[in-house]
Amino acid sequence: MDFIDSQSLYSKIFASAIVAIGVTDHEGRYVIVNPTWCQLLGYSQEEAVKLHIKDVTPREDWDTSIVSFDYLIAEKGRQMRKQRRYQRRDGSIFWADLYASSIFDDNGNPMGILGVFVDIDKQVIAEQIQRELYQNLEELNTELSKANTDLNRLARHDALTGLYNRRVMEELLQKESSRSIRTQRGFGVAIADIDNFKRINDTYGHDCGDLVLKKLSSLFISGIRVTDMVGRWGGEEFLFVLTETTCQGAMIVIERIRAAVEDAEIRCGDQLLKVTITIGLSFHMGDEKGRDMLNEADLALYRGKKTGKNQVLCYQEGCMEGG
Ligand code: GH3
Ligand code: MG
Ligand code: MG
Repeated sequence: MDFIDSQSLYSKIFASAIVAIGVTDHEGRYVIVNPTWCQLLGYSQEEAVKLHIKDVTPREDWDTSIVSFDYLIAEKGRQMRKQRRYQRRDGSIFWADLYASSIFDDNGNPMGILGVFVDIDKQVIAEQIQRELYQNLEELNTELSKANTDLNRLARHDALTGLYNRRVMEELLQKESSRSIRTQRGFGVAIADIDNFKRINDTYGHDCGDLVLKKLSSLFISGIRVTDMVGRWGGEEFLFVLTETTCQGAMIVIERIRAAVEDAEIRCGDQLLKVTITIGLSFHMGDEKGRDMLNEADLALYRGKKTGKNQVLCYQEGCMEGG
């Protein structure tokens, strides 16, 4: 290899490097910087050598910068790569990807630090924007799924009582009907209607009427078994679907609910209200369609209203009849 003036070669590399290079003494004062360093930080070479690392570091980052400096200078051969912020002459700040290493003399004394860095401000800002966008997106997603849940709830539940609405009950009835035909297992359908409810509204007001509907709904919910379902069928009519039971079993559940309503006292303002319900029940062993059972339960209910109210009537012959 030809003789190369290594000193001049190093100078050329230093001067033409597209990365910023800065060397400090063991106390952090700059002793030499290259043109890219000057260009990135906005100082001339003459100004740069009067600076300390702190002068090109945002105030909030001084502490971490000192920790890194002390770490590097403590031992020969130490190196570090980190993303850190620099402050330009005009006060503006940018992110850089820094490679730093300690420089020691031949006697093992620390001379200073060599720092080489590139400006990654655009990259960091792009990442920050991306992170913020993702976060916003996540928040939006959470809101959306909450809105979806609310919407789903609104679509499936009655607003006043919180019970399933008529549409859901129709679906459940259809499902149960098909299942019953498939499995040949029986299920019951019951319609409950509040007795003389018009009078409650007329005497105590519509708000009291609403309160009665809500109170009865919670009685129904606590009165049914986990395999049963209840929904608001119409104004003051409620539909029960009773599965995994016999006709007698369904009758017992329904009669218990009727009795619980009869026993309940509903406070509305300073009034204590008493109400009763009449219930029509239909039970089949997998031989009927849901629609027929509804008509049958309705007929039983009608009969119950005609013959004194506050009772449970079953449509089927042979099924134990209440009242
Ligand atoms: P019966 O014993 O024969 O059932 O007599 P009833 O007075 O209950 O008669 P009916 O079933 O025809 O009356 C239903 C009443 O229920 C009429 C209506 O004003 C009332 N109603 C329906 N929906 C609501 C509601 O959401 N809130 C209130 N407060 N009243 C309602
Ligand atoms: Mg009615
Ligand atoms: Mg009624």
